Parts: sequence; C-alpha cells; structure tokens
Amino acid sequence: MPELPEVETICRDLRKKIINKKIVSISVKKKNLIKQSVTGFKKKLVGNKIISIDRRGKLIIINLSTGNYLLIHLKMTGQLIYQQKDNIIAGGHGLPRPEQGLPSRFSHIIFIFSDKSQLFFNDIRQFGYMQIVDKEELDLVIDNYGIEPGLKNFTLDNFNNVLKNRKTSIKALLLNQKVIAGIGNIYADEICHLSSVRPMRRINTLTNDEKKKLWKYSTTVINNAIKKRGTTFSDYVDADGHSGSYVGHLKVFGKQGSHCTSCSKGVIKKIRHAGRGTHYCPNCQK
Ligand SMILES: [Zn+2]
Repeated sequence: MPELPEVETICRDLRKKIINKKIVSISVKKKNLIKQSVTGFKKKLVGNKIISIDRRGKLIIINLSTGNYLLIHLKMTGQLIYQQKDNIIAGGHGLPRPEQGLPSRFSHIIFIFSDKSQLFFNDIRQFGYMQIVDKEELDLVIDNYGIEPGLKNFTLDNFNNVLKNRKTSIKALLLNQKVIAGIGNIYADEICHLSSVRPMRRINTLTNDEKKKLWKYSTTVINNAIKKRGTTFSDYVDADGHSGSYVGHLKVFGKQGSHCTSCSKGVIKKIRHAGRGTHYCPNCQK
C-alpha cells in the first residue's frame, strides 16, 4: 500500500510533467472509482489546466484552473502512470507494471492532455477514488486529517496533546489518520523500533522520554523515506524507473526471524496487532 513517502514521490514526479497541461478528454471505465456522477466529473475537468499538485497525508490534491480541486486517493492498490510517447513515470502500487502495456485492463480512468500525453489511474482492487471538490469542500476534507510529520503542526506539544488520555496502543494511534496523518504500517513499525518502544504499548504507560523519541523518529523516518523515494518491495512499482530504496533501511518490517541489527541480541518477532502484521524486537523494544 502506498504510504506518505510513496505518495509524495509520485506528486513530485508528476509536478515535473503535468503542470500547465490542459485536459482535453477523460475516459471513465469504472464509475465506482468516482465519488460523483461521471457526467459531472467530466464536465468539471475537461478544458482545465493543472495549476499545482499538493498532498495531505496520503491524499493527492490537484488544483485546477477553474478553482476546483481534483482529489485522488490510491488506497490499497491504486497507481498513477503518466505516459508521453515512450517516456513513462509511475507511482503507487506495484501491479500491473507499466511495461505490461497501457491502457491495461486495470486502467479504469484515463486523462488525455492537449499534447496527447496521458495519465492512467490503475487500480486492481478498486478501493481508490477520485473526486472534484470546491475550496469549501476541500477544507472540510483536510480538517479530517491529523497532525502530519513534515508539516508545521507536527510540534512536540501537539504530539503530546494528541497522545493525552488515550488508552489504545501507540501503533493504533500512529495509524489513525484523523490523529496523525500519513504514517502507515511499514513506517509505524520502524518508528516504534527506533524509539525502543513496542508497537502494542498502551499510550498511557509511555514515559515523556519515550513520547519525545516517538515524535522525533516519526519525522526522521518519514523524511528519510521521502529522500529514498519510498520503500519498494517486489510488488511495488517505483516512480520514474528508479527503485524506492528505503527498503534497505528497514530494521524490523519484513525482518521476522532475523537478528536485530540495533541490539544484535534479539530476534525480530511478527505478530498481529491493530489488525496489521506488526514487527518488533522483544529485546530492545520495551
Ligand atoms: Zn533489538
């Protein structure tokens, strides 16, 4: 599943390609991926230029020349692939691979720009969506997102505040997009590991020092992953033909059964927690 660093990577790549391009037509093959009527969706898009591309958490926000916004959420298996002649950039989930030909049978929405280049929204499991909103609706959507590593609102004070009076585990909280935006399963496990805290620890048992570490490593892990263009596994297609190389920096995720490289004593364990596969070192995480 694409997380914040992978979504940020595709936003950065698309900015270099589609800013100022005019949408001349749209083909919608699966209307369930659009949160409004297909006719209304097309009417609000065709003829627009792409002004800018932003992101909040894992949500892509495309500012259109009419002042409306196109929201794109890739969810579990969504993919954005831009094709200009032989030049292809892709981001999001790994399958289908762009070299398998475009459009593929999973290309459910296709944008065509005035220079004949195309943007494909592929989604195998079809949990992703697109939606056009005005400024007021955009503000309501954004209000649902919590503080976010990398944004100004991610201060230690705000972090401590959102942890107050919570009885869930730290992992469940890190995954709750309404409280802390952008962190998914992979990075939640890595942040807990670097903070020497077990993902299942109840928040009300955390010391101030542990909270401070969790806050600090949330930013460090996300920023480093963005620098490495995200984490690429075998089923994940990177953007622009490069691999997301954060996979080489993972300490616990997918490392079950291996010796912990942080303490060199523990063996990484994998359990099910907060509904997700959860990885930790029983020796150096308390
Ligand atoms: Zn360890």
